[in-house]
Amino acid sequence: MTQSTTPPAGIPEKIRHYIGGQFVDSIDGDEFDVLNPVTNEPYIKAASGKKADIEAAVAAAKQAFDEGPWPTMLPRERARVLNKIADIVESRKDELAAMESFDSGLPITQAKGQAARAAENFRFFADLIVAQVDDAFKVPGRQANYVNRKPIGVAGLITPWNTPFMLESWKLGPAIATGNTVVLKPAEFTPLSASLWPGIFEEAGLPTGVFNMVNGFGEEGFAGDSLVKHPDVPLISFTGESKTGQTIFANAAPWLKGLSMELGGKSPAVVFADADLEAAVNATIFGSFSLNGERCTAGSRILVEDSIYDEFVERYAAQAGRVKVGLPSDPTTEVAALVHPEHYEKVMSYVEVGKTEARLVAGGGRPEGFETGNFVQPTVFADVKPDARIFQEEIFGPVVAITPFSSDEEALELANNTKYGLAAYIWTSDLKRAHNFSQAVESGMVWLNSNNVRDLRTPFGGVKASGLGHEGGYRSIDFYTEQQSVHINLGEVHNPVFGKQ
Ligand code: NAD
Repeated sequence: MTQSTTPPAGIPEKIRHYIGGQFVDSIDGDEFDVLNPVTNEPYIKAASGKKADIEAAVAAAKQAFDEGPWPTMLPRERARVLNKIADIVESRKDELAAMESFDSGLPITQAKGQAARAAENFRFFADLIVAQVDDAFKVPGRQANYVNRKPIGVAGLITPWNTPFMLESWKLGPAIATGNTVVLKPAEFTPLSASLWPGIFEEAGLPTGVFNMVNGFGEEGFAGDSLVKHPDVPLISFTGESKTGQTIFANAAPWLKGLSMELGGKSPAVVFADADLEAAVNATIFGSFSLNGERCTAGSRILVEDSIYDEFVERYAAQAGRVKVGLPSDPTTEVAALVHPEHYEKVMSYVEVGKTEARLVAGGGRPEGFETGNFVQPTVFADVKPDARIFQEEIFGPVVAITPFSSDEEALELANNTKYGLAAYIWTSDLKRAHNFSQAVESGMVWLNSNNVRDLRTPFGGVKASGLGHEGGYRSIDFYTEQQSVHINLGEVHNPVFGKQ
């Protein structure tokens, strides 16, 4: 067996739920197969959670919330635990990255970067809760008001399969930092790295019941759906497809739950003729193909000013052809295997659609030497019309659409011409145009002359079909807490008198 067909050392015998401090099977004993994306052979079984498992997990989380001590601990005490979690994640980053890469098909070097970011997510929210200040107002001689910030209760966290461990940490960090208890429902395609959370949390001293996890599917009657519909879960943080977001929105409506949704994208990278062309080509290649193109903020629609269009397409296609496709475990690999055969079929079907809609200039099939597994060549289509499906729909793989434009107005119209609005990348040396364009583009985030870098203090989220609400920095603290206004009378009591004889 090669390195890519043998599971990494230290994986559990089976993936179980973790409820009230115990690893447990599903109450009905149901399990499902998890596949290795390089071979598509099952390599481990995972427990498939249903309503009864979610009920047990929510009960454990509710007990830990109601009885404490976590929600009432001092922020500095909670921060100490979060910093320990970060230290442990950092110290286990190679092991973690090996599992993530094996399970999801991510190139190993990129999986290591994601593990480091996961540690940072805990450290960041540890700092933030210690430094947290809240508003206080006074009306001289009459009244003072202050904000009493409180954790909300049991947070339901539902995550996707792309960069699973990092995205779980992005929700777990602020949810527990603010004193809530949680039930995590990891993505069914990639449950392996999440199986490390219980050990990490126990070692860091997180009290029993604060973290609970139920594995399995999302659909009606399964774990995800049951978590959304549980009456004792007042808030749901969800990352995944826009369509799933709509379903969750409807299912949470009867309880008016707090919702935060980070959804799909089809983000434009707009390259003007006055841009630094080399920097723009390098960054857009990275933005489209890193993380196997399975990146919500991927710049998967590249809009290029017509005077540099031919040169850009030629350079971009040539560079896409040099992106190294390889095994996830190979440190020289830049694009590896897509997560699952179902997703591979979906991406390949878009490649075939693209061939009928536009001009194929790079890739377009399975790379040589990879006869099995979910490998796709970095694929580039040029001359893509705005009504093409590959322009409008999220493919979520290493497939890019390039479209020319001839004026700023046309570039903006094309950039805004999808239902999504997650990110936009703008390449120009004209500062005024850069600012005007970024203010008019319909997206939650804009990167100017930059690839996708994150500052954890900034709001993260999308507009239109790309999301609801923002997380990141203080926005996460706001989402995971209640802000109660307390009014104190400091002067005379001026009671309006009603009905006195
Ligand atoms: P998905 O919507 O299929 O699944 C996401 C999670 O939701 C999984 O855990 C799944 O089991 C669960 N789920 C499915 N149906 C559910 C239901 N009815 N009720 C409750 N839970 C349910 O998404 P995916 O295919 O795992 O992930 C890829 C998608 O995620 C892409 O669209 C991508 O753009 C998006 N994404 C967005 C961001 C962002 O920050 N905006 C980040 C990463 C991924």
